Amino acid sequence: MSDVTRKLVSVRKIAALDAIPGADAIECATVDGWKLVVKKGEFKVGDLCAYFEIDSFLPASDHRYTFLMKNGLREFEGVMGHRLRTVKLRGQISQGLALPIALFIEDFFGSKEDEGQELSEFFTVGQDLTELLGIKKWEAPIPAALAGQVKGAFPGWMRKTDQERCQNLVDEIFKDNFDSRYEITMKLDGTSCTFYFRDGEVGVCSRNLELKISDENKDNTLVRMLIDSNLKGILESARFGNIAIQGELMGPGIQGNREQLKAHKFFIFDVQLLDEGRYMTPAERHDFFNDLISAGVDVTKVEHVPVVAHSANLYDTLGIINVDGLLKFAEGRSLNHEVREGLVFKRVDGQFSFKAISNAFLAKEKD
Ligand code: AMP
Ligand code: MN
Repeated sequence: MSDVTRKLVSVRKIAALDAIPGADAIECATVDGWKLVVKKGEFKVGDLCAYFEIDSFLPASDHRYTFLMKNGLREFEGVMGHRLRTVKLRGQISQGLALPIALFIEDFFGSKEDEGQELSEFFTVGQDLTELLGIKKWEAPIPAALAGQVKGAFPGWMRKTDQERCQNLVDEIFKDNFDSRYEITMKLDGTSCTFYFRDGEVGVCSRNLELKISDENKDNTLVRMLIDSNLKGILESARFGNIAIQGELMGPGIQGNREQLKAHKFFIFDVQLLDEGRYMTPAERHDFFNDLISAGVDVTKVEHVPVVAHSANLYDTLGIINVDGLLKFAEGRSLNHEVREGLVFKRVDGQFSFKAISNAFLAKEKD
């Protein structure tokens, strides 16, 4: 299984430009499923741009991003810069940043000598610029109780829990998968956690790292959950074979505990069959969860993530025909909060998935 690498920055096409009522200097651009505010006249429809997704961290030292620093300067991994977030300008929601592709020719050639040639000779739509431009994804600092003693990187033989945003998958969702059915689950805003059993060994991982299961880590929230929930004993019994259980760890000290849980809980959202190199289908996962209960998992600590629909077709079941419709549907309540983070859609064969983040959630998000 390979990693889903997110293209944080890529070459994209300006698909549309629309006026914003009451605004003279700015207009609204459409880039795939995203809407964002750009300077009026900076682009024509069909132009290529470098598109930076929300959560890109733009270093202040690069003159091309300096104009953004007045909107908020912060430190990330020792660098000062600006985190791109969802904003509203003149009532228009704006997500991400589009800059003229010509600004980046020097990154390709180390000089501007080739200026004047057709830009499409250098750049192709979809091309990943993230590494070339050295842009990092901003991540919230991890509280000490979660960070723990690190054993190493997240193992390469299983998949991380990342989900791609629906705005980047417009054709895949609305053309290739028009007839597909999905399990729709609530996206909970905690911290990603993976427990696995492989060839006799149990492991625990946060989103990007594997943690030590040792005495010095005994107070780590993830390690505690593994032990206290009985998952450690159940996995070690080998009754489920080589397997990875992935879920969202929620509760005190995690992401402001938005759901106001009194104690930590682990909400399972995916199970990987490591020998087969695939995710369980949603149906298999629900059966597996019942088997976990039979095996004695502590049900006050471990739950299945809330399911909104078991087998829904976007159009037939929900009347959704585009990204706007998806994003509207993503809004609503979570467990104990008026504003949920969003929804995750998993095709019923377990082979394709994406997330739809609520814009109401993003608009409220604190920096
Ligand atoms: P994000 O946190 O926006 O990068 O979105 C991906 C993350 O959502 C995954 O790494 C999971 O930790 C988390 N997540 C929360 N709820 C779910 C869910 N129902 N299905 C899949 N992932 C989820
Ligand atoms: Mn998250």
